[in-house]
Amino acid sequence: MRIAMVSEHASPLAASSGLGGADAGGQNVAVRALALALADAGHEIVVHTRRTSPSVPRRVAMAPGVVVDHVDAGPPRELPKDDLVDHMDAFSAELATCWRLERPDVVHAHFWMSGLAALPAARALGVPVVQTFHALGSVKRRHQGADDTSPARRVAVESDLGASVDRVLATCREEVDELVALGVPADRMTVVPCGVDVGHFTPSARTSDGPFRVLSVSRLVPRKGVDTVISALARLTGDAELVVAGGPAADALDGDPEVARLRSLAAGLGVADRVHFLGAVGQDTLPALYGSADAVVCVPAYEPFGLVPLEAMACGRPVVAAAVGGLADTVVDGVTGHHVPAGDPGAVAAALDALRADPRRARRLGRAGRRRAETEYGWDRVAGSHERVYGDVVAATAAVPALTTGSPA
Ligand code: UDP
Repeated sequence: MRIAMVSEHASPLAASSGLGGADAGGQNVAVRALALALADAGHEIVVHTRRTSPSVPRRVAMAPGVVVDHVDAGPPRELPKDDLVDHMDAFSAELATCWRLERPDVVHAHFWMSGLAALPAARALGVPVVQTFHALGSVKRRHQGADDTSPARRVAVESDLGASVDRVLATCREEVDELVALGVPADRMTVVPCGVDVGHFTPSARTSDGPFRVLSVSRLVPRKGVDTVISALARLTGDAELVVAGGPAADALDGDPEVARLRSLAAGLGVADRVHFLGAVGQDTLPALYGSADAVVCVPAYEPFGLVPLEAMACGRPVVAAAVGGLADTVVDGVTGHHVPAGDPGAVAAALDALRADPRRARRLGRAGRRRAETEYGWDRVAGSHERVYGDVVAATAAVPALTTGSPA
């Protein structure tokens, strides 16, 4: 199949470096890995993403079978994600031009603004559209309230898209409930999780001989709950350290307001000397970092899917996770780690103390996490689920003209 992916703000080319910043994370990784796995399976992929630099070529070959198309829409520089909606008409017009010249069999839009741009361009050519939201405005608004900077019409657009595209891919069960509440018909949805590169993220023996090491890997934005992990560290009963990966590059940590907030929290709790901020860490370095940890903690207030717990599991590490969003599906309580309520440092500390008290059990949870990552979440398997959905919508679209032709006038 010729598959056109649209990922307006999240370039797959940024996935090997530059993650951890405010707007670069799981979507970049997921789009890249999915494109590569589908190309391995013999499909041709073009990923359309917004041009953010005047100097990059319009088309870049990312791998055999995968081309990244830098679409001219708005000024060719980084813009905050929430400002991009004003440029989606231009993005859509460019897509229409591309697709008239080179018609894809199916379009897969990632994030709501990609759907907004892709749907009219694809509909004009009768190409079916599959939508993955990656995050929902309704959830963000509920949790962030007045701090939510999303464009006002986001929720309405997501609801319209859900009712108009050929298939919505929800990445977890909780997202299905959210979408049903938005009026999206359940029969238009299929749950297809994101995956993890189980060849890159592999288990290793604990590589640090220092104190009990807790690891957090995330963009440094308040909803990720790093403050909860710092508060938990202060409640742990023995010697322990917290390593925090993510945020700006290491040399820019000092100017970052969220880092300042977290440092001040750590200082107030008397644990500043035991919290180590690394800044953004490259994907190449991450397996070794996971391997240095005794436990990985992910306790966001909400999480559409959450790649980090899967990466930790693939590296054979037990995960303490808030039972929210995708984390409720990927982490199995008592089997691959522990579920805790979001925003509860006492529960995080209790889970970590339990892991420290019984290292054999902690290793068993880590091994079970690895098995679960391999059997359920390898990108080959996840790409296979996507292929089936693409095949279904292509077949259903092809059937429509035949029915029309065959019916009486
Ligand atoms: N990540 C990274 N370096 C960092 C912090 C994060 O490469 O310093 C990666 C991490 O490995 C994961 C992604 O960014 O692949 C984060 O995805 P997740 O779904 O956990 O959260 P999101 O950022 O999408 O909210």
